[in-house]
Amino acid sequence: MAAATIPRMTIEDRLYLIRFKADKESHLVIKDPQVCLDCETKPCTTFCPAHVYEWEDNRITVSYEGCVECGACRIGCPPGNISWRYPRGGFGVSYKYG
Ligand code: SF4
Ligand code: SF4
Repeated sequence: MAAATIPRMTIEDRLYLIRFKADKESHLVIKDPQVCLDCETKPCTTFCPAHVYEWEDNRITVSYEGCVECGACRIGCPPGNISWRYPRGGFGVSYKYG
């Protein structure tokens, strides 16, 4: 009997399978926007798998609704300028598959 093949999934495929229930308030807060202005490489715009952080109009925007709660931004922001916590109970990632 031939072995079953498991289809390869990209990170984008996997993110598509996650369901969210967004809170009205963000669980991710930029502590000091001035620190972001002085941050040369802005690594948050690249390390977040869900592309939550974007640099637009000279500031970081935070699309917290898409956060997959991986926790990388707790340690990935060099000056520690992101206040991170899990979403409140009942909000955030509500369904995961794959
Ligand atoms: S890595 Fe931290 S300090 Fe730099 S732009 Fe992102 S949130 Fe701001
Ligand atoms: S916890 Fe993970 S997914 Fe959520 S904003 Fe931080 S890096 Fe992005």
